[in-house]
Amino acid sequence: MVRLFLGCFFRRTDVNTVTNWNVPLVWEGTFDPALIDDMYKKMDPRVAVVVFAVGKYTRFLKNFLDSGEKHFLIDFRVTYYIFTDNEKDVPKIELGKGRNITIITVPSAMRWQDVVLGRMKWATIIIDKQIRDEADYLFMMDVDSVFHNRFGAESLSQLSAVLHRGYYKNTDRDRFPYERRPESKAYIPAGEGDYYYTAAVWGGYMEDMYRLVRYCYEQSEEDAKNKIEAVWQEESHLNRYLLYNKPTKVLSPEYLWSDYDQVPSDIKVVRISQLVKNYAEVRPNGGN
Ligand code: UDP
Ligand code: MN
Repeated sequence: MVRLFLGCFFRRTDVNTVTNWNVPLVWEGTFDPALIDDMYKKMDPRVAVVVFAVGKYTRFLKNFLDSGEKHFLIDFRVTYYIFTDNEKDVPKIELGKGRNITIITVPSAMRWQDVVLGRMKWATIIIDKQIRDEADYLFMMDVDSVFHNRFGAESLSQLSAVLHRGYYKNTDRDRFPYERRPESKAYIPAGEGDYYYTAAVWGGYMEDMYRLVRYCYEQSEEDAKNKIEAVWQEESHLNRYLLYNKPTKVLSPEYLWSDYDQVPSDIKVVRISQLVKNYAEVRPNGGN
């Protein structure tokens, strides 16, 4: 009773809290964190996090994992699947109860574009072979990220996507950086689009995520056959899919901010922030 009463206060009027297809748009102050965690904990779901650390990106693992252990779905069962070409540089991390790390070996790559697109290929293969039997929910995440605040069960749904911090205030969909060349499988025509979503954090039910990861892989393979690469690699394919298969929950940019950008007043809590990095130093082909 008390909870239901308190629930009346979990509302925001300064931001949209529902999409135009009527699913929640999640912001701090729109949910009761303890209540929503309790509800989901009753089902005790197993959550898989797929994160790639290829080449020099293993340096980001320690902070990613340490901060995840402080803030990501605390008291839930979580397995981090670390895809790497460099197992010996995977740090030893102290994990909470019910939490695990599984290391998956993948080949190195010469171009960063091949690493980010390769994520779709290797995730498709390993989800099919292993992960789909081991978890109920799956998140795909960038490793150059640090958790700063709670990232809890309010993020869970059949398919949850995060608004890209650079475009969420933009109401002109024609300025979203969708793929605009009709030759690419990721093409979105002018006049269409709901939001621009980031590919650095996305999640959902295992089977829905598997379908989407495989879609991004297959569409990018088709593009490669046609000698074209979508402007923002897998993010472009993700955005096309989500235009025609709407997410069942949209997460505000609280769920992926960046240390490059100031935090505006509608972002009350930064849950994950991407690190400032020296692209020329960390990427195999010097960031080009
Ligand atoms: N990545 C990697 N090695 C690389 C390039 C990328 O492991 O050489 C992975 C890593 O998980 C990274 C993600 O791909 O977080 C996306 O690349 P990046 O973070 O460089 O892209 P950005 O967020 O800067 O657009
Ligand atoms: Mn990143």
